[in-house]
Amino acid sequence: MPEQVSLKGKVVIITGAGGGLGKVYAHQFASRGAKVVVNDLGGSLTGSGNSNRAADVVVEEIRKNGGTAAADYNNLVTNPEGILQTALDNFGTVDILINNAGILKDSSFKNMTEKQFTDVLDVHLNGAFKLTKLCWEIFKAKKYGRIIMTASPAGLYGNFGQANYSCAKLALVGFGETLAKEGYNSNIKVNIISLLAKSRMTETVLPPDVLEKLSPEKIAPLVLYLTSEMCPSTGSIYEVAAGLFAQIKWQRSGGLYLNPSSDTLTPEAILYKFNEISDFTESDYPTMLKDYNKVWDITSTLGKNEQGK
Ligand code: NAD
Repeated sequence: MPEQVSLKGKVVIITGAGGGLGKVYAHQFASRGAKVVVNDLGGSLTGSGNSNRAADVVVEEIRKNGGTAAADYNNLVTNPEGILQTALDNFGTVDILINNAGILKDSSFKNMTEKQFTDVLDVHLNGAFKLTKLCWEIFKAKKYGRIIMTASPAGLYGNFGQANYSCAKLALVGFGETLAKEGYNSNIKVNIISLLAKSRMTETVLPPDVLEKLSPEKIAPLVLYLTSEMCPSTGSIYEVAAGLFAQIKWQRSGGLYLNPSSDTLTPEAILYKFNEISDFTESDYPTMLKDYNKVWDITSTLGKNEQGK
């Protein structure tokens, strides 16, 4: 019998689980024996309004299928404490946090207002920060925790009309990469997913034949595995859509080294050798600040050569 990915008994908070991807995650976690906090304020795509119904329906469905779940209607931005309290009141702890809630306020940058910008950062980034910070204390104390940050191709590559959203989504990458390092010795694993799926966020912008291939059920298996005890990965970015599961890395070109003297380190030196900076024939994949050793080693060698002249 092949090994099974078990989430039995784990308490998972999923923000924005009243619809879209979060709802699918909630069902799948519950079907694997996890106790699920289904958080959702039940608002519109742009974040207006609220209703208990979204979270209630998911919880009813989970219970009907024999699973364990509790509904939570708190706004992630204004009452993250309430979300954690729902987990503690119902299940006594938290083991897994899926930062999934989100809104869109798309606009070309020319027309984007400061409110559109800050509202989007508030939910995706500041909301994730606030709830993660609260859960972090518990994870550190119990020396166990799993966190997913939900990024987006719009954050990694940019996307027209989404300056606010891409800022928030790329910030979550750096946030996740840092927490992976800070949580390493406490068995807290943090991974980042960048995805594409059919939901109300995409159904008006992607053609129907593409949407058909993008069911959110195709994202959930990775989220379940990444948050299981079995997964060794932390601090990684995964891109997932339509059955494709891939890892994204930062790639650094072999680069140009200029002698660090004021005679040679000039804008003109950059002008003449600019192509070398972007030549990826030789490259590496840095994962931490320490990887700058490469730069320090080479510049110190250059320095010595210069002195030896
Ligand atoms: P969705 O709109 O169906 O789900 C988002 C949910 O978050 C909604 O149910 C909403 O009510 C809830 N929510 C919003 N603000 C909240 C708040 N302050 N407090 C609590 N709940 C709140 O969209 P989705 O596509 O399922 O998106 C889920 C996540 O995936 C989002 O972070 C989104 O940015 C990300 N994402 C989606 C896609 C995609 O292709 N659908 C691509 C990249 C990233």
